[in-house]
Amino acid sequence: MHVFRCIRESCGAAYPLAENIHTCPRCGGLLDVEYAFDREAAAQWPALWSGRRASLRKLDSSGVWRFRELIPFISEPESAELVATLGEGNTPLLDSAAAAGFAGLDAIRFKHQGFNPTGSFKDNGMTCGVTRARALGMRLVGCVSTGNTSASMAAYASYAGLVPVVFIPHGEIALGKLAQALEYGAVTFQVEANFDQILRLIFRMAESLGLYLLNSVNPFRLEGQKTIMAELLEQCGWREPDWIVLPGGNLGNVSAFGKGLRELRDLGLIRRLPRLAVIQAEGAAPLCRMMESAAAELRPVERPQTLATAIKIGAPVSWPKAVRELRASGGVCVAVSEQEIADAKAVIGRAGIGCEPASAATLAGARKLRAAGVVGPDQDVVAILTGHLLKDPDYILRYHAGELECGGRPLESRLANRPRIVAAEAAALEAALREATGDRLTAGG
Ligand SMILES: *Cc1c(COP(=O)(O)O)cnc(C)c1O
Ligand SMILES: [Zn+2]
Repeated sequence: MHVFRCIRESCGAAYPLAENIHTCPRCGGLLDVEYAFDREAAAQWPALWSGRRASLRKLDSSGVWRFRELIPFISEPESAELVATLGEGNTPLLDSAAAAGFAGLDAIRFKHQGFNPTGSFKDNGMTCGVTRARALGMRLVGCVSTGNTSASMAAYASYAGLVPVVFIPHGEIALGKLAQALEYGAVTFQVEANFDQILRLIFRMAESLGLYLLNSVNPFRLEGQKTIMAELLEQCGWREPDWIVLPGGNLGNVSAFGKGLRELRDLGLIRRLPRLAVIQAEGAAPLCRMMESAAAELRPVERPQTLATAIKIGAPVSWPKAVRELRASGGVCVAVSEQEIADAKAVIGRAGIGCEPASAATLAGARKLRAAGVVGPDQDVVAILTGHLLKDPDYILRYHAGELECGGRPLESRLANRPRIVAAEAAALEAALREATGDRLTAGG
């Protein structure tokens, strides 16, 4: 039997999946979706999954539902009209010698979740969250968001015929994400409080409002996100990387990855767990502080500060799950500065890959872990780029204009690339072009 299981060791209560709950009714703890997998059948799954890549069926074209044996929370998804999919997942694994050199590694690969329908990994989770909302017969869905969750929820809910309502911190959301929520038809509230404050408020009100909450405390979103690990392992030919590096905000993604990897190991599909490295911004690093001080509880950061808005979170909801996964995998948490994020982001951009600021924290973190000797130069490192470059055009334009600052402190734009103004005249244009490209052509790049 598949059940909800409270993750608190002192509780461990189980509940039927038919119940509409997000947290443990008995103790308030976080819930896992726990499956009774058929371990013997699992040996055949990798062949089944790769076979589906040749299929044109809608469910098989999704990079989440292609792995549906790992997320059996609705029965017979094949025949169900319930599944809300926009063809999420199926994201590439990209390498860059320049980025590897920047980090001091022989190689690094980027799993780019920005290639999703709405441009972030939130889509991998949202397809499951919205499908679950439909299965429960809910019409109104809501989330509090630093941006990408609202963009994703708005798209999936509208596509599925549900009504999306998003609550975002006033003035603290990247432009591309707000634009998406509006265009995808979400009822949008800009609330005058920070993310953590709004979440507490909405969490209390959701039930009386008839609102199905799709924040990352919703365990079904994490079920979708965990399939990113199945897709990655498939791309690696089921050879485990040494490290998986990802940014940490609310810590849902690291929780999902850890659970997904443990399940793959328990099913015998991988032998060992890759080590997870969570990267936070220095101004919003409550998990790093907790791990450093070996504290038993997470102390929220009151006024989180970072330009990487997707990880600007002081009181991450999923911290107990994140700690569990870091312990299980021998993982680490490190904090990086705004300058380190800006530098890494520019390197990823110039490699032709590009990502939003929070995603670039991964390369900055890999570099730091390498410098500290935690990661060896020849280790197999996969960094998760969580969001698309165009999510935050304002950051990019300011960077290249040399105008980026955080908390009143200016940042250096070491790879600034400014547009050049030129007269509409052949000779002038030719001279300007030669001057601008000469170095890059002689450098062979
Ligand atoms: C949501 C998000 C994060 C943070 O993920 P968590 O699961 O909250 O830790 C990082 N980067 C991007 C682009 C995101 O959208
Ligand atoms: Zn409990």
